[in-house]
Amino acid sequence: MRAVKFPGNRQAVLVDVAVPSPGPGEVLIQMTAAAVCGSDLHRYRHAPADPPNEFIPGHEPVGLVKATGAGVTGVGLGDPVVVYHRRGCGRCPYCSDGDAMLCPNGQRAHGFACDGSDADYMLTDARCLLSLPSRFSDVEGALLACNVGTAYAPLRRLGVSGRDVLTVSGLGPVGLCAIMIGRAMGARVVGVDPSTGRRALAEQLGAVATLDPSDGELGRQIRDVAPRGASALVETSGNPAGHAAIIDLLGIGGRAAIVGMGADRPALNLCDLIWKQITVTGSNLYPNAQWEEVLTFVSEHELPIGDVVAEVLSIDDAPRAFHLADGATTGKIMFRW
Ligand SMILES: [Zn+2]
Ligand SMILES: [Zn+2]
Repeated sequence: MRAVKFPGNRQAVLVDVAVPSPGPGEVLIQMTAAAVCGSDLHRYRHAPADPPNEFIPGHEPVGLVKATGAGVTGVGLGDPVVVYHRRGCGRCPYCSDGDAMLCPNGQRAHGFACDGSDADYMLTDARCLLSLPSRFSDVEGALLACNVGTAYAPLRRLGVSGRDVLTVSGLGPVGLCAIMIGRAMGARVVGVDPSTGRRALAEQLGAVATLDPSDGELGRQIRDVAPRGASALVETSGNPAGHAAIIDLLGIGGRAAIVGMGADRPALNLCDLIWKQITVTGSNLYPNAQWEEVLTFVSEHELPIGDVVAEVLSIDDAPRAFHLADGATTGKIMFRW
């Protein structure tokens, strides 16, 4: 089968590898869609001298059940599924509660610690399967697999509502989903990103204003839109400048959730939280138990999540796909079979 590998230094290559066969409790998925995520790019960019990327990348998988291993029940051949990419142990209190992203027992993430979805087939544990209702396309399924939930969970954790001015820092696919979801929760939403194209997309998706960091101090810019500053903020850029701006963008009593992981050291001075009594929390993916809630929210608010997709490509175009995503000026890059 075709599979993507990252040899290093911003290269993606296609290799030919054997189709894996499912062991006990495992399922083989025939991919129908898989998306490129900002978190894939950390591995894509690494220098060859770093530890080699032995695993097939990709953790936003949608496909059809092709084969099941011994002991797998409740899954039929041909069923459309999304793979929840954090393979927890399935036994600890976190896995039992549907918080598999917090599993402390040798959790393996597809695309990082075991093979992922950028291949014709992938293998996973039956307990990682999330069912994809027919009202969603496979492209939407790939967005729901990671980005939509990653945007939804911090907004829910912050309790975003119609009382909020919500700032979304970083308008990549997760940020754009946060714009849509924050607006549907009732907030006035302001986006921040240096890319003109991404700011335009955020405004199309419901941002009341967007700010360009190169236009000067963000604290001043936000006060032109919301005189008391933002009351809630989601940081998706992972950029130290994005971290540093949290204090300026938020007003008194503001609360922020950190979602983006950057390659550089964060630049947020904890003592600066004191003066405005700012609360900062981390948000790690989304709980697998929240899957149905996210699907229902997206359906009931008729969120056009597919609008964040910029390009749908063949897996044969993987070199171009990762090059485009690496440019950080466009929407979501998707593979479709
Ligand atoms: Zn992702
Ligand atoms: Zn566990």
